[in-house]
Amino acid sequence: MQSKKNIKDLELDELEKYLEEHGLPRFRAGQIFEWIYKDTASFGDMLNLPKTLIELLDKDFYIGRAIIEAMLHSVTDNTRKYLLCFEDKNAVECVLMDYSYGKTICISTQIGCRMSCKFCASTEGGLVRSMTCGEMLEEVMAVSRDAEERVGNIVLMGTGEPFDNYDQVMKFIRIINHSKGLNIGQRHITISTSGIVPRIYDFADENLQCKLAVSLHAADDVTRSRIMPVNRKYGIEKLLEACRYYIKSTNRRVTFEYALIKDVNDSIRNAHKLGTLLKGMLCHVNLIPLNKVEGKAFNKAPEEKVRSFKLALKGYGIDTTIRRELGSEIDAACGQLRQKYVRQ
Ligand code: SF4
Repeated sequence: MQSKKNIKDLELDELEKYLEEHGLPRFRAGQIFEWIYKDTASFGDMLNLPKTLIELLDKDFYIGRAIIEAMLHSVTDNTRKYLLCFEDKNAVECVLMDYSYGKTICISTQIGCRMSCKFCASTEGGLVRSMTCGEMLEEVMAVSRDAEERVGNIVLMGTGEPFDNYDQVMKFIRIINHSKGLNIGQRHITISTSGIVPRIYDFADENLQCKLAVSLHAADDVTRSRIMPVNRKYGIEKLLEACRYYIKSTNRRVTFEYALIKDVNDSIRNAHKLGTLLKGMLCHVNLIPLNKVEGKAFNKAPEEKVRSFKLALKGYGIDTTIRRELGSEIDAACGQLRQKYVRQ
């Protein structure tokens, strides 16, 4: 017997094709889609569908819903960190944050990660599997459901490398952006990559309005290769060349994420190197005070160093911000909650 599929893994045209193959009118796909993204829990609740169609859907599909395994709430800044569990018992983290411009969710795109960044808890245990677009959609939906809040902004910056799961991530964007889907504008979606160069070119050619963030974290190849092994394959020069292509083709700026790690990349010399590298580029630098990860040797850079780093970049005309620290008392660094779950 063929196993049932998660209906959230289907785009509208795939659903239309399915209906056509069963001799049913295509317009029903739009109705089904609307019910799903209004967060209807069962096909039987889709009131304008005929009984025969409900039975057919029940036979072939299920509506994937995650179970909230844990939720930590930071009372200081209203950050909520979730551990969500899927049908196969794999769990992922996502974080709901309060920003002045609205609720923002940071979602995972893979279960585990194979990129091996040395300061990150998500990479421990490697990659288990990539997530489907339906599972990523459910991260947004499960959190909205629980928090009783509409999520307006999405960042793909949780566990996993989104460009290592490129096709499912693009599908996720199309559904979330669809007027009958969750209807979240592309401008409200940010994709973060550790620097998989060929996919940056592909992403530029998609002609989307989403934002691109690149985890740079170092301004020279020796340091970057030490903390981010992806750099051994795609060095800084190639990475920045791809970013320039992205900027030229989309006319959009790139955000460079730079986690300041004590005595690794936080010196004024490092800041000048970075300034020289990025000078004149349509970009923005986001300095991140590193969240300490249990068992890792890396520590957060002292505050005064963060401030001088920012000042030095300003001298190069580079728009720089320091990321507000959210939820540090609830282990907001990616992967820590899941690691505890895996260990247990
Ligand atoms: S920082 Fe991101 S890309 Fe690097 S190991 Fe962690 S989850 Fe993967």
